[in-house]
Amino acid sequence: MKIYNTLSKKKEDFVPIDGNNVSMYTCGPTVYHYAHIGNLRSYIMEDVLEKELRFEGYNVKRVMNITDVGHLSSDADTGEDKMLKGAKREHKTVMEIAKFYTDAFFNDCAKLNIKTPDVVEPATNCIDEFIRMIEKLIEDDYAYLAGGNVYFDTSKLDEYYTLSSHNSDDLMVGVRDDVEEDNNKKNKTDFVLWFTKSKFDDQELKWDSPWGVGYPGWHIECSCISIKHLGERLDLHCGGIDNIFPHHTNEIAQSEAFLGHKWCNYWFHVHHLNDKQGKMSKSKGDFLTVSLLEEKGYDPIVYRMFCLQSHYRKPLEFSFEVLDSVKAGYIKLRKKISSLDRNGGKVDSQTVESYKNKFIEVVGNDINTASGITIIYDVLKDDVNDATKIAVIDEFDKVLSLNLTVPYEEDNSTGIDEELETYINSMIEKRKEAKKAKDFATADSIRDELASKGIILKDTREGTTWTKA
Ligand code: AMP
Ligand code: ZN
Repeated sequence: MKIYNTLSKKKEDFVPIDGNNVSMYTCGPTVYHYAHIGNLRSYIMEDVLEKELRFEGYNVKRVMNITDVGHLSSDADTGEDKMLKGAKREHKTVMEIAKFYTDAFFNDCAKLNIKTPDVVEPATNCIDEFIRMIEKLIEDDYAYLAGGNVYFDTSKLDEYYTLSSHNSDDLMVGVRDDVEEDNNKKNKTDFVLWFTKSKFDDQELKWDSPWGVGYPGWHIECSCISIKHLGERLDLHCGGIDNIFPHHTNEIAQSEAFLGHKWCNYWFHVHHLNDKQGKMSKSKGDFLTVSLLEEKGYDPIVYRMFCLQSHYRKPLEFSFEVLDSVKAGYIKLRKKISSLDRNGGKVDSQTVESYKNKFIEVVGNDINTASGITIIYDVLKDDVNDATKIAVIDEFDKVLSLNLTVPYEEDNSTGIDEELETYINSMIEKRKEAKKAKDFATADSIRDELASKGIILKDTREGTTWTKA
Protein backbone atom coordinates (compact mmCIF):
# COMPACT_ATOMS: atom_id res chain seq x y z
CA MET A 1 0.00 0.00 0.00
CA LYS A 2 1.27 3.44 -0.95
CA ILE A 3 -0.25 6.65 0.31
CA TYR A 4 0.56 10.30 -0.04
CA ASN A 5 1.64 11.57 3.37
CA THR A 6 0.95 15.26 4.03
CA LEU A 7 3.72 15.15 6.64
CA SER A 8 6.49 14.31 4.16
CA LYS A 9 4.62 15.70 1.13
CA LYS A 10 5.52 12.46 -0.66
CA LYS A 11 3.86 9.25 -1.69
CA GLU A 12 5.22 6.63 0.71
CA ASP A 13 5.00 2.90 1.38
CA PHE A 14 2.56 2.44 4.21
CA VAL A 15 4.26 0.64 7.09
CA PRO A 16 2.20 0.31 10.28
CA ILE A 17 3.93 0.44 13.64
CA ASP A 18 2.54 -2.91 14.82
CA GLY A 19 2.82 -5.36 11.92
CA ASN A 20 -0.61 -6.02 10.52
CA ASN A 21 -2.50 -3.83 12.98
CA VAL A 22 -3.41 -0.35 11.84
CA SER A 23 -4.62 2.45 14.09
CA MET A 24 -6.64 5.01 12.20
CA TYR A 25 -8.21 8.24 13.47
CA THR A 26 -10.74 10.36 11.64
CA CYS A 27 -11.98 13.83 12.54
CA GLY A 28 -15.72 13.42 12.87
CA PRO A 29 -18.47 15.89 12.03
CA THR A 30 -19.43 19.00 13.95
CA VAL A 31 -23.03 18.07 14.60
CA TYR A 32 -24.79 21.43 14.43
CA HIS A 33 -26.27 20.84 11.00
CA TYR A 34 -26.61 18.16 8.33
CA ALA A 35 -23.39 16.99 6.74
CA HIS A 36 -23.14 18.37 3.22
CA ILE A 37 -22.00 16.23 0.33
CA GLY A 38 -18.58 17.94 0.57
CA ASN A 39 -18.06 16.63 4.11
CA LEU A 40 -19.26 13.27 2.85
CA ARG A 41 -16.70 13.27 0.05
CA SER A 42 -14.05 13.15 2.78
CA TYR A 43 -15.84 10.36 4.63
CA ILE A 44 -16.38 8.33 1.44
CA MET A 45 -12.70 8.47 0.50
CA GLU A 46 -11.62 7.64 4.06
CA ASP A 47 -14.02 4.70 3.97
CA VAL A 48 -12.33 3.44 0.80
CA LEU A 49 -8.93 3.83 2.46
CA GLU A 50 -10.07 1.81 5.48
CA LYS A 51 -11.66 -0.90 3.32
CA GLU A 52 -8.61 -1.10 1.04
CA LEU A 53 -6.42 -1.63 4.10
CA ARG A 54 -8.72 -4.40 5.30
CA PHE A 55 -8.80 -5.86 1.76
CA GLU A 56 -5.01 -6.04 1.83
CA GLY A 57 -5.19 -8.02 5.07
CA TYR A 58 -4.62 -5.38 7.72
CA ASN A 59 -6.60 -5.32 10.96
CA VAL A 60 -7.84 -1.79 11.26
CA LYS A 61 -9.08 -0.12 14.40
CA ARG A 62 -10.74 3.11 13.42
CA VAL A 63 -11.81 5.83 15.84
CA MET A 64 -13.90 8.91 15.11
CA ASN A 65 -14.90 11.76 17.40
CA ILE A 66 -18.17 13.64 17.28
CA THR A 67 -17.62 17.35 17.78
CA ASP A 68 -20.48 18.40 20.01
CA VAL A 69 -18.67 21.19 21.88
CA GLY A 70 -15.88 23.71 21.40
CA HIS A 71 -15.81 24.25 17.63
CA LEU A 72 -16.18 27.98 17.14
CA SER A 73 -17.29 29.63 13.91
CA SER A 74 -13.69 30.18 12.97
CA ASP A 75 -11.29 27.26 13.26
CA ALA A 76 -8.93 29.79 14.87
CA ASP A 77 -10.97 29.88 18.10
CA THR A 78 -13.04 32.98 17.52
CA GLY A 79 -16.69 33.60 16.83
CA GLU A 80 -19.73 31.91 18.22
CA ASP A 81 -19.82 28.23 19.20
CA LYS A 82 -21.20 26.28 16.23
CA MET A 83 -23.38 24.04 18.40
CA LEU A 84 -24.96 27.04 20.10
CA LYS A 85 -25.60 28.58 16.72
CA GLY A 86 -27.47 25.40 15.68
CA ALA A 87 -29.45 25.32 18.94
CA LYS A 88 -30.55 28.95 18.53
CA ARG A 89 -31.50 28.39 14.90
CA GLU A 90 -33.79 25.52 15.84
CA HIS A 91 -34.90 26.58 19.35
CA LYS A 92 -33.57 23.38 20.85
CA THR A 93 -30.94 22.51 23.45
CA VAL A 94 -27.37 21.85 22.34
CA MET A 95 -27.67 18.16 23.31
CA GLU A 96 -30.89 17.80 21.30
CA ILE A 97 -29.15 19.31 18.31
CA ALA A 98 -26.13 17.04 18.80
CA LYS A 99 -28.27 13.90 18.99
CA PHE A 100 -30.40 14.82 16.00
CA TYR A 101 -27.48 15.65 13.70
CA THR A 102 -25.33 12.74 14.89
CA ASP A 103 -28.15 10.36 13.93
CA ALA A 104 -28.64 12.22 10.65
CA PHE A 105 -24.92 11.90 9.91
CA PHE A 106 -24.87 8.13 10.41
CA ASN A 107 -28.05 7.76 8.37
CA ASP A 108 -26.35 9.57 5.51
CA CYS A 109 -23.26 7.41 5.95
CA ALA A 110 -25.37 4.23 5.77
CA LYS A 111 -26.99 5.45 2.56
CA LEU A 112 -23.52 5.98 1.10
CA ASN A 113 -22.28 2.56 2.31
CA ILE A 114 -19.80 4.25 4.64
CA LYS A 115 -18.91 1.83 7.42
CA THR A 116 -19.34 3.11 10.98
CA PRO A 117 -15.92 3.36 12.69
CA ASP A 118 -15.12 0.82 15.40
CA VAL A 119 -15.24 3.53 18.05
CA VAL A 120 -17.32 6.72 17.87
CA GLU A 121 -16.77 9.08 20.78
CA PRO A 122 -18.60 12.37 21.37
CA ALA A 123 -16.31 15.07 22.78
CA THR A 124 -18.69 15.73 25.69
CA ASN A 125 -17.97 12.17 26.96
CA CYS A 126 -14.33 12.97 27.62
CA ILE A 127 -14.22 16.24 29.57
CA ASP A 128 -12.21 14.75 32.48
CA GLU A 129 -9.65 13.37 30.05
CA PHE A 130 -9.28 16.75 28.30
CA ILE A 131 -8.75 18.39 31.70
CA ARG A 132 -6.03 15.89 32.64
CA MET A 133 -4.23 16.42 29.34
CA ILE A 134 -4.39 20.22 29.73
CA GLU A 135 -3.12 19.97 33.33
CA LYS A 136 -0.05 18.07 32.12
CA LEU A 137 0.57 20.60 29.35
CA ILE A 138 0.49 23.40 31.95
CA GLU A 139 2.76 21.42 34.31
CA ASP A 140 5.26 20.87 31.51
CA ASP A 141 5.14 24.58 30.62
CA TYR A 142 3.55 24.11 27.20
CA ALA A 143 0.40 25.97 28.19
CA TYR A 144 -0.46 29.16 30.06
CA LEU A 145 -3.43 30.92 31.59
CA ALA A 146 -4.45 34.32 30.24
CA GLY A 147 -7.66 36.28 30.59
CA GLY A 148 -9.42 33.25 32.11
CA ASN A 149 -8.57 30.88 29.22
CA VAL A 150 -5.84 28.26 28.88
CA TYR A 151 -3.67 28.60 25.75
CA PHE A 152 -1.11 26.34 24.13
CA ASP A 153 2.20 28.16 23.75
CA THR A 154 3.37 27.40 20.21
CA SER A 155 6.70 29.18 20.77
CA LYS A 156 7.76 26.28 23.04
CA LEU A 157 8.05 23.94 20.08
CA ASP A 158 11.10 23.57 17.86
CA GLU A 159 8.81 23.28 14.90
CA TYR A 160 5.17 24.23 14.86
CA TYR A 161 4.45 24.12 11.12
CA THR A 162 5.02 20.38 10.72
CA LEU A 163 2.20 19.86 8.22
CA SER A 164 2.02 23.12 6.34
CA SER A 165 4.63 25.54 5.21
CA HIS A 166 4.59 28.87 7.01
CA ASN A 167 2.87 30.53 4.13
CA SER A 168 -0.09 32.82 4.59
CA ASP A 169 -1.98 31.31 1.63
CA ASP A 170 -1.74 27.81 3.09
CA LEU A 171 -2.76 29.05 6.48
CA MET A 172 -5.86 30.76 5.18
CA VAL A 173 -7.27 27.44 3.94
CA GLY A 174 -8.43 26.55 7.42
CA VAL A 175 -9.02 29.93 8.95
CA ARG A 176 -12.51 30.59 7.84
CA ASP A 177 -14.90 33.36 8.79
CA ASP A 178 -14.96 35.70 11.77
CA VAL A 179 -11.23 35.86 12.44
CA GLU A 180 -10.61 38.29 15.27
CA GLU A 181 -7.53 39.18 17.28
CA ASP A 182 -7.30 37.64 20.73
CA ASN A 183 -5.09 39.86 22.90
CA ASN A 184 -4.58 37.14 25.50
CA LYS A 185 -2.38 35.14 23.16
CA LYS A 186 1.39 35.45 23.57
CA ASN A 187 1.91 34.36 19.97
CA LYS A 188 -0.43 34.71 17.02
CA THR A 189 -0.51 30.95 16.49
CA ASP A 190 -1.29 30.03 20.13
CA PHE A 191 -4.64 28.34 20.51
CA VAL A 192 -7.21 27.78 23.22
CA LEU A 193 -7.22 24.53 25.20
CA TRP A 194 -9.90 25.57 27.69
CA PHE A 195 -12.27 28.52 27.61
CA THR A 196 -13.75 30.10 30.68
CA LYS A 197 -14.17 33.47 29.04
CA SER A 198 -15.33 33.78 25.50
CA LYS A 199 -17.26 36.65 24.03
CA PHE A 200 -20.33 34.46 24.18
CA ASP A 201 -21.31 34.19 27.83
CA ASP A 202 -24.47 32.25 27.11
CA GLN A 203 -22.55 29.06 26.23
CA GLU A 204 -24.96 26.31 27.17
CA LEU A 205 -22.68 23.43 28.13
CA LYS A 206 -20.04 24.20 30.74
CA TRP A 207 -18.01 22.07 33.11
CA ASP A 208 -16.05 22.66 36.27
CA SER A 209 -12.29 22.71 35.81
CA PRO A 210 -9.18 23.78 37.75
CA TRP A 211 -9.35 27.04 35.75
CA GLY A 212 -13.00 27.82 36.35
CA VAL A 213 -16.28 26.78 34.77
CA GLY A 214 -15.91 26.53 31.03
CA TYR A 215 -15.51 24.28 28.01
CA PRO A 216 -12.72 22.69 25.96
CA GLY A 217 -11.24 23.98 22.74
CA TRP A 218 -11.87 22.02 19.56
CA HIS A 219 -8.33 20.77 18.85
CA ILE A 220 -7.72 19.09 22.22
CA GLU A 221 -10.63 16.70 21.69
CA CYS A 222 -9.11 14.89 18.73
CA SER A 223 -5.68 14.47 20.34
CA CYS A 224 -7.21 13.20 23.53
CA ILE A 225 -9.79 10.87 21.99
CA SER A 226 -7.20 9.42 19.64
CA ILE A 227 -4.66 8.77 22.43
CA LYS A 228 -7.41 7.35 24.66
CA HIS A 229 -8.47 4.69 22.16
CA LEU A 230 -5.44 4.18 19.93
CA GLY A 231 -2.52 4.74 22.24
CA GLU A 232 0.55 6.95 22.13
CA ARG A 233 1.59 6.13 18.58
CA LEU A 234 -0.86 6.48 15.74
CA ASP A 235 -0.45 5.08 12.22
CA LEU A 236 -2.90 7.13 10.24
CA HIS A 237 -4.92 10.31 10.72
CA CYS A 238 -7.49 11.56 8.20
CA GLY A 239 -9.52 14.63 7.40
CA GLY A 240 -10.36 17.16 4.73
CA ILE A 241 -7.58 19.54 3.61
CA ASP A 242 -9.13 22.45 5.49
CA ASN A 243 -8.15 20.55 8.65
CA ILE A 244 -4.40 20.77 7.86
CA PHE A 245 -4.19 24.20 9.40
CA PRO A 246 -4.89 25.02 12.14
CA HIS A 247 -6.65 21.88 13.39
CA HIS A 248 -4.19 19.10 12.57
CA THR A 249 -1.17 21.35 13.06
CA ASN A 250 -2.46 22.06 16.58
CA GLU A 251 -3.28 18.41 17.22
CA ILE A 252 0.35 17.50 16.47
CA ALA A 253 1.65 20.35 18.64
CA GLN A 254 -0.31 19.42 21.74
CA SER A 255 -0.10 15.61 21.32
CA GLU A 256 3.67 15.59 20.88
CA ALA A 257 4.16 18.11 23.70
CA PHE A 258 2.01 15.87 25.90
CA LEU A 259 3.63 12.59 24.90
CA GLY A 260 7.20 13.76 24.51
CA HIS A 261 7.65 11.92 21.21
CA LYS A 262 6.37 11.70 17.65
CA TRP A 263 2.67 10.88 17.54
CA CYS A 264 1.30 10.09 14.08
CA ASN A 265 3.18 8.70 11.07
CA TYR A 266 0.81 9.22 8.12
CA TRP A 267 -1.59 12.08 7.41
CA PHE A 268 -4.23 11.52 4.74
CA HIS A 269 -6.15 14.57 3.49
CA VAL A 270 -9.05 14.67 1.07
CA HIS A 271 -9.32 17.69 -1.19
CA HIS A 272 -12.51 19.73 -1.24
CA LEU A 273 -15.72 19.32 -3.09
CA ASN A 274 -16.45 22.68 -4.63
CA ASP A 275 -19.57 24.20 -6.05
CA LYS A 276 -19.70 27.11 -8.45
CA GLN A 277 -18.93 29.51 -5.57
CA GLY A 278 -15.92 27.53 -4.31
CA LYS A 279 -15.62 25.20 -1.34
CA MET A 280 -18.93 23.77 -0.21
CA SER A 281 -19.37 24.77 3.43
CA LYS A 282 -22.01 24.60 6.10
CA SER A 283 -21.48 28.19 7.17
CA LYS A 284 -22.65 29.42 3.74
CA GLY A 285 -26.03 27.98 4.70
CA ASP A 286 -26.81 26.87 1.17
CA PHE A 287 -25.46 23.36 0.69
CA LEU A 288 -26.36 20.01 -0.78
CA THR A 289 -27.27 17.06 1.41
CA VAL A 290 -27.87 13.38 0.74
CA SER A 291 -31.61 13.86 1.34
CA LEU A 292 -31.69 16.58 -1.26
CA LEU A 293 -30.06 14.29 -3.80
CA GLU A 294 -32.65 11.63 -2.97
CA GLU A 295 -35.49 14.13 -3.37
CA LYS A 296 -34.10 14.86 -6.80
CA GLY A 297 -34.24 11.15 -7.63
CA TYR A 298 -30.60 10.15 -7.21
CA ASP A 299 -29.60 6.96 -5.46
CA PRO A 300 -26.96 8.19 -2.93
CA ILE A 301 -24.62 5.50 -4.26
CA VAL A 302 -24.47 7.46 -7.53
CA TYR A 303 -22.84 10.24 -5.52
CA ARG A 304 -20.38 7.70 -4.07
CA MET A 305 -19.54 6.65 -7.64
CA PHE A 306 -19.15 10.34 -8.57
CA CYS A 307 -16.53 10.73 -5.81
CA LEU A 308 -14.75 7.47 -6.65
CA GLN A 309 -14.29 8.50 -10.25
CA SER A 310 -11.87 11.25 -9.32
CA HIS A 311 -8.72 11.25 -7.25
CA TYR A 312 -9.09 12.26 -3.61
CA ARG A 313 -6.14 14.65 -3.77
CA LYS A 314 -7.69 16.77 -6.51
CA PRO A 315 -10.43 19.37 -6.04
CA LEU A 316 -13.74 18.09 -7.35
CA GLU A 317 -16.39 20.37 -8.76
CA PHE A 318 -19.95 19.28 -8.23
CA SER A 319 -22.55 19.72 -10.95
CA PHE A 320 -25.82 17.96 -11.66
CA GLU A 321 -24.76 17.54 -15.30
CA VAL A 322 -21.78 15.43 -14.29
CA LEU A 323 -23.87 13.61 -11.66
CA ASP A 324 -26.41 12.78 -14.38
CA SER A 325 -23.74 11.29 -16.59
CA VAL A 326 -22.35 9.28 -13.66
CA LYS A 327 -25.89 8.09 -12.94
CA ALA A 328 -26.37 6.93 -16.54
CA GLY A 329 -23.03 5.08 -16.48
CA TYR A 330 -23.83 3.55 -13.10
CA ILE A 331 -27.23 2.23 -14.19
CA LYS A 332 -25.71 0.77 -17.36
CA LEU A 333 -23.04 -0.95 -15.32
CA ARG A 334 -25.50 -2.33 -12.76
CA LYS A 335 -27.75 -3.65 -15.55
CA LYS A 336 -24.81 -5.30 -17.28
CA ILE A 337 -23.72 -7.01 -14.06
CA SER A 338 -27.33 -7.95 -13.30
CA SER A 339 -27.60 -9.71 -16.63
CA LEU A 340 -24.80 -12.11 -15.66
CA ASP A 341 -25.80 -15.56 -14.49
CA ARG A 342 -24.64 -16.08 -10.90
CA ASN A 343 -24.82 -19.84 -11.51
CA GLY A 344 -23.11 -19.55 -14.88
CA GLY A 345 -20.21 -21.93 -14.44
CA LYS A 346 -17.73 -22.72 -11.73
CA VAL A 347 -15.82 -19.84 -10.15
CA ASP A 348 -12.23 -19.85 -11.36
CA SER A 349 -10.41 -18.91 -8.17
CA GLN A 350 -7.12 -18.27 -9.95
CA THR A 351 -8.75 -15.59 -12.10
CA VAL A 352 -10.36 -14.07 -9.01
CA GLU A 353 -6.96 -13.97 -7.29
CA SER A 354 -5.22 -12.41 -10.26
CA TYR A 355 -7.88 -9.68 -10.58
CA LYS A 356 -7.67 -9.03 -6.86
CA ASN A 357 -3.95 -8.44 -7.22
CA LYS A 358 -4.52 -6.08 -10.14
CA PHE A 359 -7.07 -4.17 -8.09
CA ILE A 360 -4.69 -3.90 -5.12
CA GLU A 361 -1.96 -2.69 -7.45
CA VAL A 362 -4.03 0.32 -8.56
CA VAL A 363 -6.29 1.09 -5.61
CA GLY A 364 -3.49 0.35 -3.18
CA ASN A 365 -1.45 2.94 -5.03
CA ASP A 366 -2.62 6.05 -3.21
CA ILE A 367 -6.32 5.11 -3.48
CA ASN A 368 -6.66 5.38 -7.24
CA THR A 369 -10.34 4.51 -7.23
CA ALA A 370 -10.99 5.70 -10.78
CA SER A 371 -8.55 3.10 -12.13
CA GLY A 372 -10.09 0.52 -9.81
CA ILE A 373 -13.45 1.15 -11.46
CA THR A 374 -12.03 0.72 -14.95
CA ILE A 375 -10.91 -2.82 -14.06
CA ILE A 376 -14.60 -3.72 -13.61
CA TYR A 377 -15.06 -3.05 -17.33
CA ASP A 378 -12.04 -5.24 -18.12
CA VAL A 379 -13.62 -8.04 -16.09
CA LEU A 380 -16.91 -7.69 -17.95
CA LYS A 381 -15.10 -7.94 -21.30
CA ASP A 382 -12.93 -10.85 -20.19
CA ASP A 383 -13.40 -14.31 -21.61
CA VAL A 384 -14.31 -15.98 -18.30
CA ASN A 385 -17.62 -17.43 -17.11
CA ASP A 386 -20.32 -15.32 -15.44
CA ALA A 387 -19.90 -16.84 -12.00
CA THR A 388 -16.22 -15.85 -12.05
CA LYS A 389 -17.03 -12.31 -13.20
CA ILE A 390 -19.50 -11.89 -10.35
CA ALA A 391 -17.03 -13.34 -7.85
CA VAL A 392 -14.36 -10.85 -8.97
CA ILE A 393 -16.75 -7.89 -8.83
CA ASP A 394 -17.96 -9.00 -5.38
CA GLU A 395 -14.35 -8.79 -4.24
CA PHE A 396 -13.86 -5.28 -5.67
CA ASP A 397 -17.10 -4.14 -4.09
CA LYS A 398 -15.73 -4.94 -0.64
CA VAL A 399 -13.68 -1.78 -1.16
CA LEU A 400 -15.76 0.26 -3.61
CA SER A 401 -19.11 -0.48 -1.89
CA LEU A 402 -21.18 0.47 -4.94
CA ASN A 403 -23.78 -2.34 -4.57
CA LEU A 404 -22.45 -3.63 -7.88
CA THR A 405 -23.74 -7.18 -7.64
CA VAL A 406 -27.10 -6.39 -6.07
CA PRO A 407 -29.63 -7.42 -8.72
CA TYR A 408 -30.74 -4.27 -10.52
CA GLU A 409 -34.43 -3.44 -10.46
CA GLU A 410 -35.70 -0.64 -12.62
CA ASP A 411 -38.03 1.86 -10.95
CA ASN A 412 -38.92 -0.54 -8.22
CA SER A 413 -40.35 1.53 -5.39
CA THR A 414 -38.78 -0.58 -2.66
CA GLY A 415 -35.74 -1.45 -4.73
CA ILE A 416 -35.96 -5.02 -3.42
CA ASP A 417 -36.73 -8.08 -5.46
CA GLU A 418 -37.68 -11.59 -4.51
CA GLU A 419 -34.28 -13.11 -5.15
CA LEU A 420 -32.63 -10.49 -2.98
CA GLU A 421 -35.19 -11.00 -0.26
CA THR A 422 -34.52 -14.73 -0.14
CA TYR A 423 -30.80 -14.01 0.03
CA ILE A 424 -31.19 -11.49 2.88
CA ASN A 425 -33.41 -13.84 4.86
CA SER A 426 -30.94 -16.68 4.50
CA MET A 427 -28.14 -14.39 5.70
CA ILE A 428 -30.23 -13.32 8.71
CA GLU A 429 -30.75 -16.99 9.52
CA LYS A 430 -27.01 -17.68 9.22
CA ARG A 431 -26.28 -14.74 11.52
CA LYS A 432 -28.76 -16.03 14.07
CA GLU A 433 -27.02 -19.41 14.06
CA ALA A 434 -23.60 -17.74 14.40
CA LYS A 435 -24.79 -15.67 17.35
CA LYS A 436 -26.23 -18.75 19.00
CA ALA A 437 -22.82 -20.42 18.64
CA LYS A 438 -21.22 -17.23 20.11
CA ASP A 439 -19.34 -16.74 16.85
CA PHE A 440 -19.74 -12.97 16.94
CA ALA A 441 -17.06 -12.34 14.32
CA THR A 442 -19.11 -14.22 11.71
CA ALA A 443 -22.30 -12.56 12.89
CA ASP A 444 -20.69 -9.12 12.51
CA SER A 445 -19.23 -9.91 9.12
CA ILE A 446 -22.67 -10.97 7.85
CA ARG A 447 -24.14 -7.70 9.10
CA ASP A 448 -21.31 -5.72 7.45
CA GLU A 449 -21.67 -7.62 4.19
CA LEU A 450 -25.38 -6.83 4.05
CA ALA A 451 -24.68 -3.21 4.98
CA SER A 452 -22.24 -2.99 2.09
CA LYS A 453 -25.14 -3.99 -0.15
CA GLY A 454 -27.32 -1.29 1.34
CA ILE A 455 -29.25 -3.60 3.68
CA ILE A 456 -29.37 -2.43 7.28
CA LEU A 457 -30.24 -4.99 9.97
CA LYS A 458 -32.05 -4.06 13.15
CA ASP A 459 -32.21 -6.41 16.10
CA THR A 460 -35.50 -6.10 17.94
CA ARG A 461 -37.11 -8.15 20.68
CA GLU A 462 -39.26 -9.68 17.99
CA GLY A 463 -36.26 -10.76 15.92
CA THR A 464 -34.08 -9.20 13.23
CA THR A 465 -35.67 -6.88 10.71
CA TRP A 466 -34.05 -5.15 7.78
CA THR A 467 -34.45 -1.96 5.81
CA LYS A 468 -32.90 -0.64 2.66
CA ALA A 469 -30.41 2.12 3.47
P1 AMP B 1 -16.98 19.60 9.96
O1 AMP B 1 -18.30 18.90 10.19
O2 AMP B 1 -17.10 20.99 9.46
O3 AMP B 1 -16.09 19.51 11.20
O4 AMP B 1 -16.24 18.80 8.79
C1 AMP B 1 -16.21 17.42 8.71
C2 AMP B 1 -15.17 16.96 7.69
O5 AMP B 1 -15.50 17.40 6.37
C3 AMP B 1 -13.77 17.48 7.96
O6 AMP B 1 -12.85 16.42 7.76
C4 AMP B 1 -13.58 18.56 6.91
O7 AMP B 1 -12.22 18.73 6.59
C5 AMP B 1 -14.36 17.98 5.74
N1 AMP B 1 -14.84 18.99 4.78
C6 AMP B 1 -15.41 20.18 5.04
N2 AMP B 1 -15.78 20.81 3.89
C7 AMP B 1 -15.44 19.98 2.87
C8 AMP B 1 -15.58 20.04 1.43
N3 AMP B 1 -16.15 21.06 0.82
N4 AMP B 1 -15.10 19.00 0.70
C9 AMP B 1 -14.52 17.92 1.32
N5 AMP B 1 -14.39 17.80 2.66
C10 AMP B 1 -14.83 18.81 3.44
ZN1 ZN C 1 -10.11 16.51 14.56
